[in-house]
Amino acid sequence: MSNDASKPVCYQAAWIVPVSSPPIAGGLITVDQNQILAVGENLSGTAPVELPDSVITPGLVNAHTHLEFSGIEKPLGEQGMEFTQWIPKAVGYRRGFEGQWIKNRSQFISKGLEESSNASVVAVGEISTSPVQVSDYQDSLAQVVSFLELIGRDPNQTEELIEAAEQHIHQCREANIVPGISPHAPYSVHPETVQQIALLSQKHQFPVAMHLAESKAELQFIEKHEGPFREMLEQFGVWNDLAPPKGTQILDYLKWLSKSHHTLVIHGNYLSEKEIGFLAEQQGRMTVVYCPRTHAFFGHDRHPLPQLLKYQVPVAIGTDSRASTPNLDLWQDVQTAALAFMGIAPQYFLEMVTINAAKALGIENRFGTLAAGKSSACSQFQLQKTVTESELFEALIQSQPRPLL
Ligand SMILES: [Zn+2]
Repeated sequence: MSNDASKPVCYQAAWIVPVSSPPIAGGLITVDQNQILAVGENLSGTAPVELPDSVITPGLVNAHTHLEFSGIEKPLGEQGMEFTQWIPKAVGYRRGFEGQWIKNRSQFISKGLEESSNASVVAVGEISTSPVQVSDYQDSLAQVVSFLELIGRDPNQTEELIEAAEQHIHQCREANIVPGISPHAPYSVHPETVQQIALLSQKHQFPVAMHLAESKAELQFIEKHEGPFREMLEQFGVWNDLAPPKGTQILDYLKWLSKSHHTLVIHGNYLSEKEIGFLAEQQGRMTVVYCPRTHAFFGHDRHPLPQLLKYQVPVAIGTDSRASTPNLDLWQDVQTAALAFMGIAPQYFLEMVTINAAKALGIENRFGTLAAGKSSACSQFQLQKTVTESELFEALIQSQPRPLL
C-alpha cells in the first residue's frame, strides 16, 4: 500500500469479481482510501501492485445482526433447542445487566463492529433495542444501517412506537447514519404498528426488517393462538388475543409489509410456496434474509432457499447475533449455506452477501459491487492454485476473505 493515503493505488489480481458483471482474469482495479477510481484500468500513474494468487471482490454486507449481543462468548442454550425456550434466555441475558445495560451495550456494539471489520464485512444491518447513541457507531470502519426494534403487543402502544420510529429516522439522518425500523415479530408487535411502519417507510424511504416465519410455533400461534408462544406470553404476563387476531397468516404480514419502501423478511424459514409466489411479485422490493448458522442452531426444517431462487425472490445472508451463532464471520455462514445446498451455483452465495444485501439495506450506491465511485473497502481472497472461471466461485467458498486495504 502507498505511504500517501490519498494517492491512488492499482492492483492486478488473478481475478477481479465486480459481481454486477462477469469476473475479469488478471484484472486491474484502481482505488484510493475512500473509493474505487476505476475497474479494468490503471489510473495510479505507476505500475500495479501484483496479487497473482488473489481474487478481489466487493466488501461483504451482513444483512442482519444484533450487535448489542456481541459480548456473548457462545450461543445461549444448547444446539437444537426450541426457539421459544431460547427467547427467555436472551431476555434474561439483558436483564442480568440490571441498570448497567446501556453502558455495557456500547462496548458490545464496538466489539461486534470490530469483529465484523476483521471478517471483511464492510456494512451491517444492525437491530438496536434502544434508541441509538450516535457515538456507538462513530469509530466504526463498517457502515451501519441502524434498525430500531419495536416491541409492543398492546394496540395502545402503536402511537408511542410510531413516534419513536420517527425520532430514530430523524436522529440517524442528522448524524449521517442510515436508518431502518424493525417491528420485531408477529408474536411481539401489534399488526397496526406493522401497517403504520410500512406506510412511514414508504413516505421516508427507509428499509423495514421483521423476523417472520421463523419457527413452526410462530405459525401455530398466529393461526390458532396455541402452542409454546401462547404459553411463553402468558408466562411473561403479556398475553392478549389481539396481536395478531386468531387466523392471521404470514401472507397477511407480507401484504402489509409490501407497502414499505423495502422489506427484509428475516429468516423466512417456513415460507410456503404461496407466500414465496407473493414475494416474487414484489419486483425486488422484498428480500428474504437467510441466517444459515442460526437456522442450523435451532435445527429448523430445510430452508426454502431453492424455491426462493427458483421464483427469483432476492435473498441475502445474515449472521444474526452471537446469542444464536458462534461469531460474526459472515463468510462462515456462506460456507454453511453452500454445504447445505450443494445444488446451488456458488456464485449466488457471493451475490447474497454483496449486491443483494446492499440493495436490501438501501446502500447499493456505495456497496455491493465493484464500480467507480463505490467504496474501496474490498475483500481479498487467497487462492490455493490457479483456477479457471468455472472453478472460481467454488474456490472462493473454500477460501477466506480479508480486507484488501
Ligand atoms: Zn434477528
